[in-house]
Amino acid sequence: MGEGAKPENERRDERPVKEARRQFRAIKGTRDILPPDSALWNWFEKTARGVMESYNFAEIRLPIFEKTELFARSIGGDTDVVSKEMYTFKDQLDLDEVIDTDAKEGGHPTAESILSGEEVSPQWRNILDTRISLRPEATASVVRAYIEHGMQMLPGNAKLYYIGPMFRRERPQKGRYRQFYQIGAEVLGTSDAPAIDAELIQMLTDLLERCQIEKYTLLINSIGCAACRPKYVELLRAELRKPEIFSKLGADSQRRVETNPLRVMDSKLPEEQAIIEKLPKISEHLCEECRTHYEKLKRELTLREVPFTESPRLVRGLDYYMRTTFEITSPILGAQNALCGGGRYDGLVEMLGGPKGIKGIGFALGEDRFIDAIVEAHKIHATRPLDIFIAWMGERAYPTAVRLAHVLRDEKHRVELPAGEMKFRKALERADKLGARYVLIIGDDEIASDMLTIKRLSDGVQEKISEEALVDFFRPPALAKEGPGS
Ligand code: AMP
Repeated sequence: MGEGAKPENERRDERPVKEARRQFRAIKGTRDILPPDSALWNWFEKTARGVMESYNFAEIRLPIFEKTELFARSIGGDTDVVSKEMYTFKDQLDLDEVIDTDAKEGGHPTAESILSGEEVSPQWRNILDTRISLRPEATASVVRAYIEHGMQMLPGNAKLYYIGPMFRRERPQKGRYRQFYQIGAEVLGTSDAPAIDAELIQMLTDLLERCQIEKYTLLINSIGCAACRPKYVELLRAELRKPEIFSKLGADSQRRVETNPLRVMDSKLPEEQAIIEKLPKISEHLCEECRTHYEKLKRELTLREVPFTESPRLVRGLDYYMRTTFEITSPILGAQNALCGGGRYDGLVEMLGGPKGIKGIGFALGEDRFIDAIVEAHKIHATRPLDIFIAWMGERAYPTAVRLAHVLRDEKHRVELPAGEMKFRKALERADKLGARYVLIIGDDEIASDMLTIKRLSDGVQEKISEEALVDFFRPPALAKEGPGS
């Protein structure tokens, strides 16, 4: 410490008051999921896992970030997701990678010279410029993992599901976040049998049923393949270029006539709807193979008693989709009414450097929106069940309270043991506020008589039991588990 310098603790006290009181808030478009809502999320995830595992899907856990190029190549550089919405940053220099490459390249330049900012060759610039992005979706990662781990060698199709956060810099609003959560499933393998598509869709409708969401619409379409889609796109473009049509389109759609006319079909602009209705439909311009595939899909859905609506406007914004596309919307959701979307992407594995002939289909559902729909459907409520509150009074009671809390927790009950002694009335009030079903009372009387007191809060009924009878007392039906979060 130099002359006149103050000791560390005094300097800290002089920080401006404003800074010391600074409060942080969650970043725009992100949010905390608090109890009791988190119990509903857990219930939903457990239910979704159960449904997907019953269809023999297995979980894949993926990284949250990948090379930007992976998303750019698989999703398409001209999509909003890639061009505007990704959280992309330059990775910090990875010294190990540099030294490794350095050795291979004959020792030039050195890691030190790069770190010191000297001019480097374009090849080295590539390493330094490695850009990574937070994942905006997970299909690209699943396909990357499929290729990386040679999963085509596994018997049958790879049937994988994932659960986790995705990141897109969209304009936040109800049902649209910058960090949102998706559950998705993918089937990768050599077969593109329509039964695979139908089973995947049936899995979703099973999940909707388990969540008791009755108001929804399943929309399906076929968007053809590399053989028939380009011809349709040209036909569509020619139609859209007609002056009487072109002049009625908004600026975005006018631009898309040249860049990606399929996306005009996606438009939500009210003044364009009448025009879109009259445009040629892709399902009427499919090649023989695609038409057969689509017809079989519809038969397979009917066989499974899955009701569907055909929607010629369902084109999906992503380049790698082909043939089957589908979406499930729910009128109970408001403006952001898409619960999930999916489709076939037979060319993606090869496009990302994988083996030829591997087909794929998948979906992603928005967890945030599913939860809203569950709450809206009023069938399941978020709860935070507490089984037993232990009201202990007096030092002599405390060791018994600690021991019994452990015994009851071993039995998988939710038990709240106050860390400090509470007056009896206060303890009962607290138990009530926490929604406890029972209060286990342990005071001087209980210790002296070797008998515990149990109070049921729903009706105030109180009874005495011995410690030996305690575990049996709380076995179902007294504490039957029910509802989400249990
Ligand atoms: P996509 O990957 O765009 O096909 O989206 C699949 C599903 O994820 C949608 O149907 C929505 O339910 C959900 N989703 C997409 N973007 C968001 C977002 N920004 N916020 C909340 N949910 C979203």
